[in-house]
Amino acid sequence: MIPESESFHRIAVIEHITRQIPRHILAHYPTPLMRAKRLTETLGDTELWFKRDDLISFGLGGNKIRGLEVILADAWSQNADCLITGAGVQSNHVRATAAVAVYAGMGCTAVYWGKSPATVDGNYRVTKMLNAGIRFTGDNDRVSVDSYIHRVEAELCELGYRPYAIPRGGACAMGVLGHVLAVFELYQQCFAQGLEPDVIVLAVGSGGTYAGWLLGLRLLNLSWKMQCYTVSREPEQVSQQVADLATEAAALLKLDWTFKAADAPVHGGFIGQGYGIPSPEAAEAIRLVGRTEGILLDPVYTGKAMAGFLHGLRNKLYDDYQRIVFVHTGGEPAFFAGNGDWLNTDLLAV
Ligand SMILES: *Cc1c(COP(=O)(O)O)cnc(C)c1O
Repeated sequence: MIPESESFHRIAVIEHITRQIPRHILAHYPTPLMRAKRLTETLGDTELWFKRDDLISFGLGGNKIRGLEVILADAWSQNADCLITGAGVQSNHVRATAAVAVYAGMGCTAVYWGKSPATVDGNYRVTKMLNAGIRFTGDNDRVSVDSYIHRVEAELCELGYRPYAIPRGGACAMGVLGHVLAVFELYQQCFAQGLEPDVIVLAVGSGGTYAGWLLGLRLLNLSWKMQCYTVSREPEQVSQQVADLATEAAALLKLDWTFKAADAPVHGGFIGQGYGIPSPEAAEAIRLVGRTEGILLDPVYTGKAMAGFLHGLRNKLYDDYQRIVFVHTGGEPAFFAGNGDWLNTDLLAV
């Protein structure tokens, strides 16, 4: 049982911090917290829950909306009239930003690494339909997006616009604050249901979401463990990025807190051949969760995190935990990109 005084204190912290975070709410919250009964039966006696951020009811959903709700409030306060951001063509973040821009009556420019792809599908199809201006860096290096965003920003300023640039993947301190609110939301949901999770499982890309969880857990002084799986960068690099983002976000709340890479451990080993390339393990995880729970995971983020989690379960990493919450961060549109060959594991396992 959580002692009452502690929970009163936490509710006070939630109220105090929430007031400091500008946010324009775009969806219905809280997102459902659902017990995965059938999947749990196939896995032994752990108690697994899904936090369904895939069901965020705006712009095809996903965790990126949480960050963008704070970013939008900030952009409005700066009187911005267009948003610029970037990533790869199947980016959920870019698709979500394009939807937010439409809602806000703002323009949107999407900067993608590489060249224009042969097929217009998945997130890319949605982003184009939403009328975002599309630019390609011509360079396959993901980092090329960063300077290109600034180039577009300068061009738009020159033309008299008031652009608001959102870093690649949405990884910025403002966005992190949106994910702090997700921690508050889950805490309140758990409190209402008398559920005390031991561990949170999360997919990590550019790190903003994880940074929000770190900061949120520290603000509430919760002992929930994080088990996080990187789907793009190597663990050391991403841990540092997560720590830096959490430190910056704390500073926005006027907290002189420093997070170190060691505070943000990340599991590697489940990226497969690379970011955005489906792995046979992810395909297996997607089939398992789909066929037991009717829940669709995505091949870029949650499928790989689930593959990591299942591997951890088999290797006793989760033996000390009773109640596990897997954060389903969304990303389904990428499931519909390409011809789906990767779902045939046998084909890839050779
Ligand atoms: C972006 C994303 C993540 C990871 O979030 P980061 O803040 O980039 O680490 C996880 N899942 C999905 C579906 C995403 O789109």
